[in-house]
Amino acid sequence: MKKKFVCLLMAAACTASLAACGGSASETTAAAAADTTAAETKAADDTTAAEAEETTAAEEKEEASEGKQLIMATNAEFPPYEYHDSSMTGPDGSDIVGIDAEIAGAIAEKLGMELVIEDIAFDSIIPELQSGKADIGAAGMTVTEDRLVNVDFSDTYATAVQVIIVTEGSEIAGPDDLAEKTIGVQQGTTGDIYASDDFGDENVDRYPKGVDAVQALLQGKVDAVIIDNEPAKVFVSENEGLKLLDTAYAEEEYAIAVKKGNTELLDQINGALAELKESGTLDEIVAKYISAE
Ligand code: GLN
Repeated sequence: MKKKFVCLLMAAACTASLAACGGSASETTAAAAADTTAAETKAADDTTAAEAEETTAAEEKEEASEGKQLIMATNAEFPPYEYHDSSMTGPDGSDIVGIDAEIAGAIAEKLGMELVIEDIAFDSIIPELQSGKADIGAAGMTVTEDRLVNVDFSDTYATAVQVIIVTEGSEIAGPDDLAEKTIGVQQGTTGDIYASDDFGDENVDRYPKGVDAVQALLQGKVDAVIIDNEPAKVFVSENEGLKLLDTAYAEEEYAIAVKKGNTELLDQINGALAELKESGTLDEIVAKYISAE
């Protein structure tokens, strides 16, 4: 059995986000003009004018993002990263709360933007970014090579592990015992992708929400559920008769996704994320939702 360790992809995501642009048009114009003495004065004038224009453009851009909406696509069925809680108010004023919601809220605040959270199916998040309907995907989303073909990822902000949930008394003690068993997963997630690769499509039952897969396990429709460790802990604590196996199935990294090539937003997100890490805000948000073991 092959275990998947995708954390190294982090490096790929970082490289992507660091991709630098070539020289600006104004530099090229200035360099060409500098060849002739007669044109020198004019070139200097042009450069100054071009620089002034660039500054104005940058200021305008900043002002343009000020007060603008930052639309976050997520699937709010993934506690403690994003879920509905009617007793709380989330960063966009709705009842969607959790680590990703608060991180996105803090990023939006830093960018002077208004956060709007869209709750959609997990496997619709990437298409939504591609079509420009949403600006960011924040959904405990794992950086994978396949996803990097369709979207760009920010620097990572959390590590996660795919774990196995079984019923108490199950004979399944680790990944090796999953062969020929029926495995429940959330559709389109890494749990789905890895389980299908390792155990065959026909042995994997896909559900719209992780909690539905857990219900299927309780009803004996599946033999095990493969899902991210933090929601797994929540689901096991909320339901009698379930346990988490000690053996991790795969390790991975979460990051925020943006439309492929949107380096401007990606840079802003990475800048904000770095500040949130530096100031300890990120740790505070995590500690609010995950108690230290
Ligand atoms: N981390 C998993 C993935 O990216 C699951 C995410 C989720 O269900 N929200 O596929």
